[in-house]
Amino acid sequence: MAHVTLENIGKVYPGGVRAVEEVDLEVADGEFVVLVGPSGCGKSTTLRMVAGLEEISEGTLSIGDRCVNDVPARDRDVAMVFQNYALYPHLTVRRNLSFGLERRRRALGLSKADIARKVDATADSLGIAALLDRLPKALSGGQRQRVAVGRALVRDPAVFLFDEPLSNLDARLRVEMRSELRLLHRRLESTMLYVTHDQEEAMSLGDRLVVMHEGRVQQVGPPMDIYTRPVNRLVAGFVGSPAMAMLEGEIVDRDGRAIFETPAGAVVAGPDLEKVRHRGPVTIGVRPESWRLVDAGNDRLSGDVVTVERYGDRGDAIVEVEGGQRIVHRGPALAMPEEGVCVGLEPVPGGVHLFDAKTNDRLNV
Ligand code: ADP
Repeated sequence: MAHVTLENIGKVYPGGVRAVEEVDLEVADGEFVVLVGPSGCGKSTTLRMVAGLEEISEGTLSIGDRCVNDVPARDRDVAMVFQNYALYPHLTVRRNLSFGLERRRRALGLSKADIARKVDATADSLGIAALLDRLPKALSGGQRQRVAVGRALVRDPAVFLFDEPLSNLDARLRVEMRSELRLLHRRLESTMLYVTHDQEEAMSLGDRLVVMHEGRVQQVGPPMDIYTRPVNRLVAGFVGSPAMAMLEGEIVDRDGRAIFETPAGAVVAGPDLEKVRHRGPVTIGVRPESWRLVDAGNDRLSGDVVTVERYGDRGDAIVEVEGGQRIVHRGPALAMPEEGVCVGLEPVPGGVHLFDAKTNDRLNV
């Protein structure tokens, strides 16, 4: 096991595409870190630089205390699990698992019996022992995914790298595999770096998340810190689904208390805003679960309920407010308003996030 350090890492692809810029990150020994962000933000490129599959254009990459910028992939002691599993189609599961070890058997000082033992133990731990003699084409997607994880596991690497490993699974299996990976991490206590575009997957897996946008790191921290205190509008909008509602407007004094008003005349009031010292243009963000329903009125954000979606336990009401903006209110399914009625929305205490109107950075005021 090892820590991984990225110092000022950058990547410019041949042809001039800048994919990654000034990435600083320290992944602690045994930590599970998830790189997350929209498609094209540079997550895979960053991971592939750690794997040794992409040349590093700028900066220093260390695994343990060793700089590995110029160390080939096979000598980095990392194992990667790919989205498409990359299994050898003509080899059985057993050979897929043992292949990497057999190739380097002498260098690793392993006997054939050692390898067989490792393969059996790995297959057991992943619940694929009964599949060892099958070819990949005779496996389900979930089983292939396990074999791909097994192939990394059997090598006992210093660092595990995962590139969207669950994307090809159906939704139910994805959720199941998510918790298995989390348990695997807890059992192995190994260093894991994981890439996904799915913020929910990232939230549920990572000890820490690294939120990226356009090649740059926006925020690094434990999932709930990022959820409750996003550093800017980009992070706030990306983490959380449905996305946080963003309203642009101004904080002004009315009748001796601070309220927020949009150009369309929508007003957001409540205890959070009364505490704000800032006056003038600002963007406010409120998550779907942080709105509560109140009576409609001129002195508060109000609108018609356009649609209601109920998911059994909870529901989402989409409210079209002044100016035409649609806002999602999330609450218990049984407490959802009827479609077509007019409702008011008020943020619950602690539910308002403020962002600078120009820089889009979080305002702590
Ligand atoms: P993500 O994993 O976040 O979806 P990538 O790291 O794959 O993003 O890509 C980051 C950026 O680099 C994108 O603009 C992408 O088009 C570009 N890119 C990725 N691979 C290559 C390549 N081999 N050559 C040129 N540009 C690339």
